[in-house]
Amino acid sequence: MQIADLIRRAGRQYGDAPALIDGERVVSFAEFDALTDRLGHALLARGLEPGDRVAVLLPNSIDGVVTYYALAKAGLVRVPLNARETPHEHAFKIDDSQARALVHVADPPTRVEIMITADELPGMIESAPEGPCDVPRDPGAPFRLAYTGGTTGKPKAVVLTTRSELAEIDNFLVDLLPNLRPESVMLHAAPITHGSGAFFLPHLVKGAANVILPKFTPAAFLEVAQKHRATTTFMVPTMIGMLLEHPDTPKADLTLERLCYGGAPIATSVLQRGIDLLGPIFTQLYGQAEAPLAITCLQPWEHTPERLASAGKPYTFVEVDIRDAEGRSLGPGEVGEVLTRGPHTMDHYWRRPEATAQTKEPDGWLHTGDIGRWDEQGYLYLLDRRHDVIISGGFNVYPREVEDVLLSHPAVVEAAVVGIPDEKWGERVTAAVVLRSPADPEEIRAFCTDRLAGFKRPKVVEIWPELPTSPVGKSLRREVRDRMLAAQRGEAPRREDS
Ligand code: AMP
Repeated sequence: MQIADLIRRAGRQYGDAPALIDGERVVSFAEFDALTDRLGHALLARGLEPGDRVAVLLPNSIDGVVTYYALAKAGLVRVPLNARETPHEHAFKIDDSQARALVHVADPPTRVEIMITADELPGMIESAPEGPCDVPRDPGAPFRLAYTGGTTGKPKAVVLTTRSELAEIDNFLVDLLPNLRPESVMLHAAPITHGSGAFFLPHLVKGAANVILPKFTPAAFLEVAQKHRATTTFMVPTMIGMLLEHPDTPKADLTLERLCYGGAPIATSVLQRGIDLLGPIFTQLYGQAEAPLAITCLQPWEHTPERLASAGKPYTFVEVDIRDAEGRSLGPGEVGEVLTRGPHTMDHYWRRPEATAQTKEPDGWLHTGDIGRWDEQGYLYLLDRRHDVIISGGFNVYPREVEDVLLSHPAVVEAAVVGIPDEKWGERVTAAVVLRSPADPEEIRAFCTDRLAGFKRPKVVEIWPELPTSPVGKSLRREVRDRMLAAQRGEAPRREDS
């Protein structure tokens, strides 16, 4: 089975029903099949050969999705680039992936052999031959490259195969979206280049529409979700926070059955507010680029007050283990690294054999770099990224735990906790917070006193106007730390105290 077969079958089965909606533009299932065939032919006619990498730098749009699946049919390897990253970051990825072609809007970040602008796509499709474009692909050969990292050194590309893509659909249909039907509607509010993209095929194969939001704002989300009666969406925690703060959210007539979220830790206070406001529709996904969106999930009915801090239980077809530094499996309550194994996980890192060897065991177990523990019922609790753990006075401090406490302060809307080198403590716990209403840093520190052990309490709380986030909305602790260190050296202004 190839991805092309799924698209073709959906085209036959669901014909004129809307498959893709972006503003006024609607593409039916039959049209989507035809468009991807024709663009596939057109790409091959430009001299591309199966296995070639094609970088795609397009905004959340129908053109982007059509291009992705034209590549799938033509046996080409997709290298999606997030439009919100910088030209410098794009150029690195285009170069590193050895892309032969770039499909882009606006100024290209660099030049490669075959340049295709978004404006050319309709003409290419128009003049291409009709009929199926079916380049068979070895199920274990690269299907797409997903860049990850970048906050710790140079980004690496995760190689995902057709086999991983098909397994990813399985995971979603079995555990997350078992009720998909032609009336279901996926609203892509987050970039399709990342997490949201994983929801596209599961909806397509079940005859459900995928609605694309070019850019997320809470107001645009509410408008489109109501207009199209959206039943599924995916958000990173920052987006949920923004939605909950919006004055129109409580009044909205939403039909969401599942609000899937993940990609970064969420504060339990935010989650509880979300459930109170929107109902029991929250579904947490824990995954990573190396194991796309599927390691564990917390189902809506598992969002009980005592479990809100959990990332859930393993997906049905995914193995998860917690191990100590010697590789021994740990039982409930013991803290170690989370490992996972399943057919959806990455094959290897593109041209990084050493990183692959460090991350993937010969028997397929993947080191996630996350620290966690099980409870007695088999629920996973993530403590933090291995690299972000702060060691203060010889104790491990998990920044996430401290951030959760800070976020439960009524004035705090965002928080990032990092370790700053300290002669006495090794590292001192330091927090940067963004406020929704005025508050005194000393009062915020005092608030932590009852709630956190002494060694975990921030020694310093700084008030920042905003926190740096990655293009997909993850808070960048490393960047926070770098700015604090630069400020310590007197290099750059870092904040506006309020
Ligand atoms: P990425 O590969 O960029 O998607 O980042 C994956 C990392 O994000 C994981 O290894 C976790 O550290 C974090 N992450 C993803 N999902 C969750 C979640 N549900 N809860 C906490 N952290 C998460």
